[in-house]
Amino acid sequence: MHELGIANEILDAALFEADRHAAKKVTSILLRVGVLRAIEPGNLSFLFEHIARGTPAEGARLEIVEEPVRVECAACGVSEVRTFTPDCPRCKGSGVTVTGGDSLSVLSLDIDV
Ligand SMILES: [Zn+2]
Repeated sequence: MHELGIANEILDAALFEADRHAAKKVTSILLRVGVLRAIEPGNLSFLFEHIARGTPAEGARLEIVEEPVRVECAACGVSEVRTFTPDCPRCKGSGVTVTGGDSLSVLSLDIDV
């Protein structure tokens, strides 16, 4: 159940920001999550709701922006895919650089002060 660890990280980040801005309430949280983290958004929201109970982030809505995997091929340029691949998805060449797809960050928060 790796979503629980992720939900905890999000809650920590949200509460830290809420505290920094002396916010009474966090209303929504915009997240960037890499597709390689294989998050089930419904599951994550459910867990977050549970652990945020009794904190200023109680009832906050999670909005998730997915970050694709970027495959850079010398011949084809950049492709974006949803699963890890050691080859270029277009020409099947192996001389590629694979980046992204594994981030987890809080992009912004909506708060009430
Ligand atoms: Zn290619």
